[in-house]
Amino acid sequence: MNWLEQDKNYIWHPFTPQKSAPDPVFIEKGKGSWLYDDKGNRYLDAISSWWVNLHGHAHPYIAEKLYQQALKLEHIIFAGFTHQPAIELAGRLLPLLPGNFSRIFYSDNGSTATEVALKMAIQFWWNNGKAERKKILAFKNSYHGDTFGAMSVSDRSVFTLAFHDLLFDVIFIDVPLVENIEKLQSIIQKEGKNIAAFIYEPLVQGAGGMKMYDAALLEEILILAKKQEIICIADEVMTGFGRTGKLFASDHLAQKPDIICLSKGLTGGTMALGVTACTAKIYSAYLDDDKKKTFFHGHSFTANPLACTAALASLDLLEKDALSGINRLCYWNGEFSKKLRDKFPDPFLKVQNIRQTGTILAFEINRGENVYLNQVGAEITRIAMEEEVYLRPLGNTVYFMPPICLTEEEYFKLADVTESILNKL
Ligand SMILES: *Cc1c(COP(=O)(O)O)cnc(C)c1O
Repeated sequence: MNWLEQDKNYIWHPFTPQKSAPDPVFIEKGKGSWLYDDKGNRYLDAISSWWVNLHGHAHPYIAEKLYQQALKLEHIIFAGFTHQPAIELAGRLLPLLPGNFSRIFYSDNGSTATEVALKMAIQFWWNNGKAERKKILAFKNSYHGDTFGAMSVSDRSVFTLAFHDLLFDVIFIDVPLVENIEKLQSIIQKEGKNIAAFIYEPLVQGAGGMKMYDAALLEEILILAKKQEIICIADEVMTGFGRTGKLFASDHLAQKPDIICLSKGLTGGTMALGVTACTAKIYSAYLDDDKKKTFFHGHSFTANPLACTAALASLDLLEKDALSGINRLCYWNGEFSKKLRDKFPDPFLKVQNIRQTGTILAFEINRGENVYLNQVGAEITRIAMEEEVYLRPLGNTVYFMPPICLTEEEYFKLADVTESILNKL
């Protein structure tokens, strides 16, 4: 059976130009940090399969739990019915979350988690008789997902070009820097009473190119937003579960969000699941005899028992010994970024803006223009794969975000391959 031939005949892959795309790689299996293709090659998954995988691929502990749950209950409607994995997961997540959260709303991916958050925040004001308070504040260069609401609060870019007329208006501000913080504060001051919610990727803007910004300055923005009663929505779909060195990026901040969005690493990267958690204050706006104040939102696969089981198993692994894995990765990234900075000290040359937040390391390759469609990314992917490493730069931004189970030997391989590519470019 020629699977690739059939793939090319039947399938439309995401984020993939359909005319010029090279053949996809046919992966037969995964084990730990490695992916194995049908030709006997293996690849170190240095981007955690689009930032989802935490404990390695095909983890036997998660697989066993899934199998047991699948024999018991695979799925049920979640309105009017409930089940143990969903209850247990909510009960275990709430005390771990960064802030005073009181309710977990389930959905099935990161985009739905942010959609739910936006709708929850806007309807909060509507339910409180302040329907006119409905503007959303977001950062430029942000990414919150691909559905219409999530796209609206994300940066306008080449990805959203065809839809710009249809996206709702958002107040976009720059990420805070020492130079602009006062200007940002005055915008929030001025617009505050019209703003329903502020959505942000704390510390690292992922899809926007692993752009990192200062926690203390975000803190300033959050303080002011809270003063104006703006609902603060932390989109931790990517940063959640250890990526920034702490369990959540908001753990680096004293100002906690009112709503938090989780997905990606939530199930250790094994099943699709989204979580939107909110505080008692948000929830209380929905506690009403007026049926119109119900949150009329839900997905067929809300709180899928298998996905919740995978999340519980992932939490078990996190609580067992993953924290040391996170600490190790932070340390190796620190050492490697030092080495890169020594090697490429001139910020105007080939390698620029070497940076690290926890388990994420990133830098830019200078090839003149700085756009996503830059070919250098594809070139790096190709060369790295010849060396058994899978990297997938965002435009000219190269980054590491490996599973937290990565061993020292594997990290050294990743670092060596990256260095040799940089030497060759
Ligand atoms: C990936 C991502 C999303 C969207 O999640 P999907 O599961 O891909 O829909 C939303 N927000 C952030 C910060 C992300 O990184």
